[in-house]
Amino acid sequence: MEHLLWSSGASDKNKAMVQQLQRYGIIKSTKVAEVMDSIDRGLFVPSGASPYYDSPMPIGYNATISAPHMHASCLELLEKLLQPGMRALDVGSGTGYLTACFALMVGPEGRVVGVEHIPELVASSIENIKKSAAAPQLSDGSLNIHIADGREGWPELAPYDAIHVGAAAPQIPQALIEQLKPGGRMVIPVGTLSQELKVVDKKQDGSVSIRDETSVRYVPLTSKDAQLQDPNRDPLH
Ligand code: SAH
Repeated sequence: MEHLLWSSGASDKNKAMVQQLQRYGIIKSTKVAEVMDSIDRGLFVPSGASPYYDSPMPIGYNATISAPHMHASCLELLEKLLQPGMRALDVGSGTGYLTACFALMVGPEGRVVGVEHIPELVASSIENIKKSAAAPQLSDGSLNIHIADGREGWPELAPYDAIHVGAAAPQIPQALIEQLKPGGRMVIPVGTLSQELKVVDKKQDGSVSIRDETSVRYVPLTSKDAQLQDPNRDPLH
């Protein structure tokens, strides 16, 4: 019976999704594959949507969960800064999926902070994480999610080895650059109509280098009011 439960459904589909991302060369690191195997994406996608399909999905409030290949790419770009014991900030944490992956990467000796400005999404992300392999880290305090404006970062636990921003900023917020540790890396989509995923590396002397990784399409990093008033919003959400 245990075998039947284990081999049925979600876990297999999640594994197949990870294998597909490995085949396409998007996941290269064994650690990233292990973490994405351990955190079942199905727990984070609203029911009715297809959690393992490689596409963004609406999560309400004019927000989306990013596509699996974007989550995988960001984990790959940040892997070296998500070693056990390191500190990570996830701005616009939405469903909490990537925040949970970060928590498994840095482990209980590390710290992961998610910041999200929609209180309902914070509440549901905490429920999602409680069902996932990252649940123990919510209890031991190495993983926290806060309701706040992520453009200000989360100064209390700064500086961070890794900062991920899950929404596109018109320009890189200065507060986030300040909260990056020397030797740290931030991955942030920047732009309005056309957007680039930027990789921001802070050197040991505090200087910053920025490069474009790829063109992307994210929801805007904006005020809560502007997000909820978006005229293009899906009336069902
Ligand atoms: N990484 C998340 C992405 C969710 S979409 C996931 O894959 O689930 C981007 C998120 O950024 C949305 O949840 C949106 O509410 C949030 N957001 C946008 N502007 C924000 C801001 N200024 N502060 C905090 N969160 C913000």
